[in-house]
Order: sequence, then C-alpha cells, then structure tokens
Amino acid sequence: MSSRKTHISVGIASGASLSLAKQISLKEFSHLELLCSVFGGFLGGVLPDVIDPPTSPNHRALGHSPIIPILLAGAALYIRLRLQNNQDTRMRAANHSNVVGYDCWEETVNSPYLNKAITGFFTGLCSGHASHLALDSKTPAGINW
Ligand SMILES: [Zn+2]
Repeated sequence: MSSRKTHISVGIASGASLSLAKQISLKEFSHLELLCSVFGGFLGGVLPDVIDPPTSPNHRALGHSPIIPILLAGAALYIRLRLQNNQDTRMRAANHSNVVGYDCWEETVNSPYLNKAITGFFTGLCSGHASHLALDSKTPAGINW
C-alpha cells in the first residue's frame, strides 16, 4: 500500500508533468497554470483516500473509481468552454458598443488568468487522481476497474 507521502509526491509530479507537456506542445508558458496544476496534483493525489478513508485493505469504493477523473475532466472542459464563450460574447459586445464601463465581477470571470488557473488546477487534479489509482492498482487489493 502506497503511503500518503508517495501519493502526494506522485500526484504533484504527474500534475506538473502533464501541465508542462501541454504548455510546451502549445508553446505557451504560464507560471500560474503550472502552480495551479501542482496544487491540483496534490489534491488529486490525496482525494481518493479522503473520500474512502483507508481503514481496511478493502476500503476502495467511489473515491477510487476511474469515473471520478473522467467526471473531473468533463467538468474542466465544460468550465473552460463556458469561460471561452463568455470571452467571445464580451468581445463581440465590446466591438458593437461605444459604452465604456467596468464591471469588476465580469472582468474577473472573463480573466485569462482565471482561465489558466482553472485549466492548471483541473489538469493537476485529474492526473493526480489517476496517479493515485495507478499506484493503488499495484497493491494486493487492487482497484475495481
Ligand atoms: Zn487509495
């Protein structure tokens, strides 16, 4: 059975690696996205054992299900598409309006920094969770795929 320290280390490494691979392939680098992927990897590495506390060797249920990273990836994709759609709508509205205004909430929601933070966080969370399942699958109790 992998220790919590191992799950955290591998979760952080997988989150950061996936984020770096994505950023290198897109030739865009964001420190914020990398930092958020490290935090997401940390949480993803411990999340299964938080949901299903390791009180016995057969403690693995919903928290150790592969459906969780799939749902997280779907949620991340949905949020990202919504943010992108908001930005596109706002740009079109700004092009057709002469009204100059400042809406702090809208500015925050449509911020490219928030988009990078969410992308990094969910990238880390999904890969950290997947790394936890990969480590636990090598134990005698395994994972119920
Ligand atoms: Zn576990």
